[in-house]
Amino acid sequence: MMTVDAVVLDIEGTTTSVAFATEVLYPHARERLPNYVRRHRNEPEVAAIMDEARDAGGVWNDEAVVVRMCHWMERDQKVTPLKDLQELIWEEGYRNGELMTPLYADVAPAMRNWHARGLRLYIYSSGSVHAQRLIYGHTVAGDLTPLLSGYFDTRIGHKRAADSYRRIAEAIGVPPQRILFLSDVREELDAAREAEWQTVWMMRAGLAGPAAAHRRATRFDRIPL
Ligand SMILES: [Mg+2]
Repeated sequence: MMTVDAVVLDIEGTTTSVAFATEVLYPHARERLPNYVRRHRNEPEVAAIMDEARDAGGVWNDEAVVVRMCHWMERDQKVTPLKDLQELIWEEGYRNGELMTPLYADVAPAMRNWHARGLRLYIYSSGSVHAQRLIYGHTVAGDLTPLLSGYFDTRIGHKRAADSYRRIAEAIGVPPQRILFLSDVREELDAAREAEWQTVWMMRAGLAGPAAAHRRATRFDRIPL
């Protein structure tokens, strides 16, 4: 048995498939961006994003801004106004039922079980905290945000840097040795290990490759908590 007080979850490749982001979320935003801007142009939040994008893109009118944003999206450039706009589009999609997060089948039952047993659950993902709340607020297993005690994004630091995990441990007030991090990315697990966290390497496609420095699992219910 692993003795932990808190479980910190990655999202892509750990609780949802990587394909959900690349084949659903990003295309959803890309297809709706021009029309979304047209419909919401006069709202202060969208107007501020358009101003910021105009400055960042060095262009002058709305049409050119939209073209520039689509260009950034195609190149997967993480430009702040684009990220902000994508989140607004996702928010609308989640609220009107066009988007729903497809979790791996073992995820919600395990999260409910761990939560019921007093473990605190957190998210640490490169997507913004706002996007994380949307993702967990609208899943195929319902709204899971009541199970979550907090969210961290790259504002706390890069996912491959040990200091990020030290800061998270401090923020949640749990000794690092009693925090478990679940991720599909070896470098993230290495960084968490360096910060003295416990780790499980999620291998959703099945255990592959040589046994590594991390405990490995294919499903949450195979983790001995
Ligand atoms: Mg991942």
